[in-house]
Amino acid sequence: ARGTDLQQAARDHLWMHFTRHSVYEEGGHVPTIVRGEGHKIWDDTGREYIDGLAGLFVVQVGHGRTELAETALKQAEKLAFFPIWSYAHPAAIELAERLAAGAPGDLNRVFFTTGGGEAVESAWKLAKQYFKLTGKPKKHKVISRSIAYHGTPHGALSITGLPPLKEDFEPLVPGAHKVPNTNIYRASEDLRDDPKAFGRWAADRIAEAIEFEGPDTVAAVFLEPVQNAGGCFPPPPGYFERVREICDEYDVLLVSDEVICAFGRIGSMFACEDFGYTPDIITCAKGMTSGYSPIGAMIASDRLFEPYKSGTNSFAHGYTFGGHPVSAAVALANLDIFEREGLNAHVKENAPAFRRTLERLLDLPIVGDVRGEGYFYGIELVKDKATRETFNAAESESMLRGYLSKALFDAGLYCRADDRGDPVVQLAPPLTIGQAEFDDIEQRLRTVLTEAPNHL
Ligand code: PLP
Repeated sequence: ARGTDLQQAARDHLWMHFTRHSVYEEGGHVPTIVRGEGHKIWDDTGREYIDGLAGLFVVQVGHGRTELAETALKQAEKLAFFPIWSYAHPAAIELAERLAAGAPGDLNRVFFTTGGGEAVESAWKLAKQYFKLTGKPKKHKVISRSIAYHGTPHGALSITGLPPLKEDFEPLVPGAHKVPNTNIYRASEDLRDDPKAFGRWAADRIAEAIEFEGPDTVAAVFLEPVQNAGGCFPPPPGYFERVREICDEYDVLLVSDEVICAFGRIGSMFACEDFGYTPDIITCAKGMTSGYSPIGAMIASDRLFEPYKSGTNSFAHGYTFGGHPVSAAVALANLDIFEREGLNAHVKENAPAFRRTLERLLDLPIVGDVRGEGYFYGIELVKDKATRETFNAAESESMLRGYLSKALFDAGLYCRADDRGDPVVQLAPPLTIGQAEFDDIEQRLRTVLTEAPNHL
């Protein structure tokens, strides 16, 4: 049956992702975004917001880019769809070449998906098959970090380190093991003051896990350059250097999950470069098209493609819409914008100012930590700054869900208040913004965070 208006139809028919629908059952207004321009978005009531999360860590070049819309139109007119199952089309070929050129080391082989979770899924499957084909058939397990989010298909969800997202879907894929994340703010007191020692400690937990599971059974380690879930955990100094050593020592593949960090979020095409390591696989998606059309990719090293170059071997895996012509063409045009406008350099140049602006919030009693890299920040909220005491579950629920999420939106700032780890506000705006917008974001956060302790 057809609803009479969009709001009613949303309440009656739209199943929003990760959404508690009870509030809409009671007639609540479904936040409905109808238009975007640059770093601004507008809802169905005409209200304007700063897009403080680039949609969902996606819209790198900002909204309303006619050039990307026109590229999509032209490609759809010319060839709307053809699969890359034993066939190819020019947009996928050119994009593969461009991604390989931008990737570090010998990561030269690009396998397209439609999004990030599928890229993660593909990487785990590739790791398993690669070791089967090269005489190490027992290697199938993966190691990843606590709280880290890697997607929702069964494999990617198994790699994800957030128990509340997983419990209702057990049993998951066996062989996925977790190690500590790199939240130095929550490290033991002796390690907090020594980031290098913390980096070494955290990396060595991976070696320990490999030893515990059995090196001949572990295929891959999945890590984000800067972990998003939990509120931005950058790698401590020396962390990835040591992880690379460990992976080499045990012949375990290092997968850099750059679904968020690639394409300028940290100020370079692939963020592993920022932290000085070369993985065996990069998984990426989101910012590749700035969201103007969906696509993801797994970029693998020459070594991993070697067994597929001869005989009857094939990676028996794929997605109908993987490498979609429209998305691939839009990705190329998106990367053109990055180059023409020097977006990566812009992020590198302005990131310190963004950080300093957000750090002004540290004068508020509720703000415990401001952390991140590039245009990617997490603001951790605490009950007691001196002791770093966090909120209990009920307080977190009433403050974050009962107040903060809505209050930030009402203050004209779309971003995310999240309590999947300790409570954090997450920011990842379009990469085009500068000091005026940093100030605006800080002011809006200040207003809401000043009021937040009254809503425990
Ligand atoms: N990996 C990381 C690091 C992510 O942040 C996400 C999504 O946020 C995913 C994987 C899953 O990507 P998608 O939602 O496109 O499946």
